Amino acid sequence: MLPDAILSDVLSLLHARTAGLADGDPVAEPLLSTSTFRLGDQPAPDAIYGRYATPTVQGCEARLERVEGAPSLLFASGMAAIAAVMLSVLKAGDRVLLPADGYFHTRVLAGDVLAPLGIEMVTAPTRELAEAPLDGVALVLVETPSNPALDLIDLAALSARCKAAGALLAVDNTFCTGLLQRPLAMGADITLASDTKAAGGHSDLILGHVATRDAGLMEKLAATRKFAGAIPGPFEAWMLSRSLETLELRLDRMCRSAQAVAALLAADDRLVIRYPGLPDHPDHALAQAQMHAPGFVIGATFPDRAAAERFIDGAGCILPATSFGSTHTSADRRARWGDAVPEGFLRLSIGIEPEGPLLDAMAAGLAAV
Ligand SMILES: *Cc1c(COP(=O)(O)O)cnc(C)c1O
Repeated sequence: MLPDAILSDVLSLLHARTAGLADGDPVAEPLLSTSTFRLGDQPAPDAIYGRYATPTVQGCEARLERVEGAPSLLFASGMAAIAAVMLSVLKAGDRVLLPADGYFHTRVLAGDVLAPLGIEMVTAPTRELAEAPLDGVALVLVETPSNPALDLIDLAALSARCKAAGALLAVDNTFCTGLLQRPLAMGADITLASDTKAAGGHSDLILGHVATRDAGLMEKLAATRKFAGAIPGPFEAWMLSRSLETLELRLDRMCRSAQAVAALLAADDRLVIRYPGLPDHPDHALAQAQMHAPGFVIGATFPDRAAAERFIDGAGCILPATSFGSTHTSADRRARWGDAVPEGFLRLSIGIEPEGPLLDAMAAGLAAV
């Protein structure tokens, strides 16, 4: 399903540590918890104090580098990664352009925390972002596909526009991870993600990361992390290292099942289904060109709220929960959070359940609607 270059990065991720082992070394990534280090005369910058770096965090970053195909820096959450990007590249008088329908807390951060520091937030709906004015804009931070409407942005076209206007382009790639979409390869300056979602993938950790090929930017991001204190502890990093070993395997199952579930649901004419892998999605061609697979999230609009809830109850194996990208299939009725979607809209995140029983459960859910 994924391109060969990505698959060889996955192979390298799985063997990067083991290839360098000496006889008697532990095979697994060690969980090394320390806040401080014995100092010699000229201490190495990453062996001084745990807020600067620890070996287990660095081990995880080495794996993330293979997921992204670029140097990566780990943060204590997706929001810590987003905050570090904004604080590292924006100054008073700058504008930051965000999708009006993007991750809500990103807009709260820009509007409530950064605006009083003289940074102006401007927003445009994802569908109009390609033409949004860029005067005074120092940073454009987008999400594609958008959440929860699953609209796409042409990243190559937007990055050319940003370059011409002197704005940096950052992509919140949480939906796809670096395995399903590589924004840096399409000209973006920065890619970032909440690893709380598919990368962590087991609903048990909060983490995020930023990747860039620009060494100057990476240095600023590392300084922001160090001085804002946004590095995670070794335990979370160790859990993510373990999760990354199965990321390609999980995504493969999740995306294949999502395609089958989307087709099953789309055949029911009481529902309106949005999934970039279906030919009737308005950005289907762009999805095929820009994403390595159409993802594991499906937008499903039921006639009303009660019908959506009967579907969840009837299926029996759909966890009602927010968040997405975990091993279990889950559904979030987004109108409850104030998203501009109908009351009967569900964001379905397909898990790693075997496809046959999962499709049977979906059919049982439809029968209960
Ligand atoms: C969850 C999420 C975030 C925030 O990540 P946390 O790990 O919860 O801080 C940012 N962007 C997107 C698209 C997300 O889904």
